[in-house]
Amino acid sequence: LLMAYDPARRLARLQVSLERAAVNARMIYEILDTVPHQRDRPDATELTIHEATVELREVRFAYGSGDEILKGVSFRAEGGKTTALVGPSGAGKSTIISLIPRFYDPKSGQILIDGQDIATVTKQSLRNGLAYVSQQPYLFEGSIRDNIRYGRPDATDAEIEEAARLAYAHEFILAQPQGYDTPVGEHGVTLSGGQRQRLSIARALVRNAPILLLDEATSALDTESETAVQKALDHAMSGRTVIVIAHRLSTIVNADKIVVMSDGRVAEEGTHGELARRPDGLYARLHNDCDAKSDFS
Ligand code: ADP
Ligand code: MG
Repeated sequence: LLMAYDPARRLARLQVSLERAAVNARMIYEILDTVPHQRDRPDATELTIHEATVELREVRFAYGSGDEILKGVSFRAEGGKTTALVGPSGAGKSTIISLIPRFYDPKSGQILIDGQDIATVTKQSLRNGLAYVSQQPYLFEGSIRDNIRYGRPDATDAEIEEAARLAYAHEFILAQPQGYDTPVGEHGVTLSGGQRQRLSIARALVRNAPILLLDEATSALDTESETAVQKALDHAMSGRTVIVIAHRLSTIVNADKIVVMSDGRVAEEGTHGELARRPDGLYARLHNDCDAKSDFS
């Protein structure tokens, strides 16, 4: 637990956050650090999660005083199911994901988890229910073990190893010079993109949170890594409520529900089968455009 509050580590993370896209980096820190000093309403309650259903109701949002980015977004991500957000770049998908841990708050409308408005619960209890896997996995300065343990500071070594096995990371970790104690990050060994992703999935798995927010990577990995990462994600997604910004056709096709975003609105929603059959639908158009490269973005 102390690790997360070490000033040197805080500084290292601060530097990184200056270098990287702010939302992504800060989301990782803020979700992982269940920061007790974050200000809550005086009457804030503890979030209690049962089904882990997430619902957006008429959510409107703008960054500061800028243009409205979300223009009344409503959808339900059913507990234990996978909901894929798709749509053109700039449609507001990442913005939606960043509202769930309350990195930002809606200007109006509500986000509910099992019927509780997230604006009324403590940030700590909210974030305890969430895990986040970003498009560009970030490794902190420290050992491989430390990097997985960031997901849950009180995880035992056995739990860390179990998460690594489920994330298809255990074997490559053992092949490193000092196994789980091998340093990574700027001053450590260099890991491949697929290995970094599997470590970040292990970090999410050790957290064992009921709701997984996933920003699927767009960049292509080699086929072997791709397969391992996909298997790791399958484990991470299983039995959880997943909201995924989906780029891979297989993720989209297999989702329980697809929410198609366009210019800050939900253009349509349904399963792949339902949406692909609509002759004039946005989804059908995106799908046809993307058939050749089997990637949606
Ligand atoms: P998507 O993930 O669908 O590509 P985003 O949610 O990233 O869309 O972006 C939606 C809109 O919000 C875009 O016009 C983008 O430029 C704008 N936007 C995203 N992040 C910020 C930010 N931190 N400050 C201001 N505008 C932003
Ligand atoms: Mg995005």
